[in-house]
Amino acid sequence: MPGSVCPEGGKAMALPSLHLNEIPDEGLSLSHEVQPEELALDPGDAQVRGALSLTVKIAKAGAAVGVVGVLSGTFVRQCVRCLKEYDDHAEVPFEADYRSDQAASRHLAPGRAAGRSEGGVSGELGAEPERDDEPYVMTGDRLDLAEMLREHVILATPMQPLCREDCPGLCPVCGRDRNEGPCGCPQERRESPFAVLKHIIEAKGERR
Ligand SMILES: [Zn+2]
Ligand SMILES: [Zn+2]
Repeated sequence: MPGSVCPEGGKAMALPSLHLNEIPDEGLSLSHEVQPEELALDPGDAQVRGALSLTVKIAKAGAAVGVVGVLSGTFVRQCVRCLKEYDDHAEVPFEADYRSDQAASRHLAPGRAAGRSEGGVSGELGAEPERDDEPYVMTGDRLDLAEMLREHVILATPMQPLCREDCPGLCPVCGRDRNEGPCGCPQERRESPFAVLKHIIEAKGERR
């Protein structure tokens, strides 16, 4: 089954974790089905319907490894206006660098190992993509994508999920879901607190 975890030292390649030896010098392109459990995603992070599909390019650069790809799948969100759950088919792009915890002290820094000069011009030329985050660490030459992917899924979760851009939400009077039609309650326009204040000031002015 796709979700099975391969035992330590097992031959089969089990993304989202693989050994450096499994990455050829010319790099690796992979497509893989990932179960939410494999990313240690719990419902508090994101609810996923079915499996996620992972497409990733992995490249070695000296002692460092760069990964870039997309994780896509169906996320179950709850609309903040009508409180209904809806399916959100989303793509989560990711890009990350890894360095070996062993190589870090033994070898040159990953940047220099890749042939870049110190304080190089590459930044000025814009050749280097902006990466403000620290590289992930490979423990014992194992590239484990799970934690990085989990972080990207969480970061891609909208703060204010909406089932649709113009969801009218629940009626504040009767609580009916206005997506299902008007409820007939008088819809008084809510004025901003500042408008209310303006009325008060005006009223005071008239009294003088
Ligand atoms: Zn809604
Ligand atoms: Zn109503």
